[in-house]
Amino acid sequence: MLDRTRQDWHSLADALDIEGRAFINGQYREALAGETRATLNPADGRRLIDVANCGIEDADYAVDIARRAFESGIWADMAPADRKMVLVRWAELIEDHAEEIALLESLDVGKPIADTTGVDVPSAVRTIRWSGEAIDKVYDQISPTPADCLALVQRLPLGVVAAIVPWNFPLSTTAWKLAPSLATGNSVILKPASNTPLSALRIAGLASEAGLPDGVLQVLPGPGGSLGRHLALHDGIDGLTFTGSTEVGKQLMRYSGESNLKRTFLELGGKSPNIVFADANLDKAAVMAAVAVFYNGGQTCTAGTRLIVEESIREKFVEMVVAKSRDWMPGDPLDPSTAMGPMIDAAQLKTVADYVAIGREEGASLAAGGTQVLADTGGCYYEPTVFDAVDNGMRIAREEIFGPVMSVIGFRDAEEAVAIANDSIYGLAGAVWSNNINTAHRVAAAVRVGTMGINNYFGGDITVPFGGFKQSGNGRDKSMHAFDDYTELKTTWIEFD
Ligand code: NAP
Repeated sequence: MLDRTRQDWHSLADALDIEGRAFINGQYREALAGETRATLNPADGRRLIDVANCGIEDADYAVDIARRAFESGIWADMAPADRKMVLVRWAELIEDHAEEIALLESLDVGKPIADTTGVDVPSAVRTIRWSGEAIDKVYDQISPTPADCLALVQRLPLGVVAAIVPWNFPLSTTAWKLAPSLATGNSVILKPASNTPLSALRIAGLASEAGLPDGVLQVLPGPGGSLGRHLALHDGIDGLTFTGSTEVGKQLMRYSGESNLKRTFLELGGKSPNIVFADANLDKAAVMAAVAVFYNGGQTCTAGTRLIVEESIREKFVEMVVAKSRDWMPGDPLDPSTAMGPMIDAAQLKTVADYVAIGREEGASLAAGGTQVLADTGGCYYEPTVFDAVDNGMRIAREEIFGPVMSVIGFRDAEEAVAIANDSIYGLAGAVWSNNINTAHRVAAAVRVGTMGINNYFGGDITVPFGGFKQSGNGRDKSMHAFDDYTELKTTWIEFD
């Protein structure tokens, strides 16, 4: 796979047989009303395939199927060791089809093929395999009762879970939701983002092939505003797990309150601080400052979009980061040397351009980028962009842009750095760079985020929980902590005569 050329990948793409039907009760099928919606390739704006556009009648049908599967006990009551075998086999099948799934993800999302082959697919495989392998190592509890009693505390599946995921990491977020929800015995209905349904549809068929019983997993492509809303308001859904914007997350909490108080766990947006002290390894910090913002075109919830730099080195460090930003000039996602692809669509491209205009109007200094490029391809490409002399009160420092735009903010001492970092509605991720162990630990401890790096950015793997403080959400994906989002605790109190 590693030695494939751009031409090879394009030839493979031309020969792909893409599945665009919904997946319900172990079968691919059209939407009940027969509606479809085109999914486009962000690299050239061309139609990839027409995908089933499911409506509320499909949702009702899928909920009914999922409920029956759950109540039959065919999956929920299966021994954890047997559920493990199905999930491990599923991970193996995804691995066997890694090239095809990576290509689908690149075509659908515009992600560089180097990322989908090197990160997205391996990460999904590891997530599913790890969660499967973990599930028969989880013990329940016996509580410390008097001798004439026995109290059991058990973890039980919620029942029917709806998972709604975004377009920026479709396969990874799908795996983060499906692996723990299925491992813990739930039946699940996944709604992918409208513009990126393809990888989820493909791996659903592989789940059946791996032995997942019919009705345990359904994938319904369709619009968030109608299909997603209907699922979130549905009394037949016991748990709702969501990754997406803070705005929609707030709406989902309301839907839960207006319906059956379904357990609702949210992974939302961010405006993450990346704090660089003068005593850090500046060469490494500069490389990673660029990675932190430009990876996935800045369409990353944890992107380190606020680069908070000690004033004494700010000028020099901005020059270093601007030099590194040139490594991220966008290109064809199917070229293995491409680091950054296009924005997901024209609307996102416009959002990015609008924020760059706002930054200029607010008085920030444009140090690099600021222009749409490769427009003749029909794709939505934007240059890596760096704003210097940003004030944390400016909109470009407060609002999630979701594009390759970095805002550099200066600080004088650690206290000020922490105050700036915490002055945000978000609390998803961040990092601090310093070779002074005291500074690094004190700052890392004081920044209110779910994941904090010391001398790294984007650190972490499936063994650690991932989620946000504040308006970045309330749930936790990954690690065994994710099982908490998909289970209820039940006490059984027994008294002896
Ligand atoms: P979004 O607009 O919130 O959409 C996310 C999902 O929700 C999509 O499937 C969407 O469907 C659906 N949806 C939209 N409105 C809905 C409604 N009223 N009821 C139910 N579902 C609805 O987010 P996005 O633009 O796809 O993704 C970008 C956002 O995700 C960013 O804010 C990013 O920070 C966040 N994110 C967070 C994490 C994390 O783990 N914290 C990870 C990745 C991304 P349609 O596609 O049909 O609109």
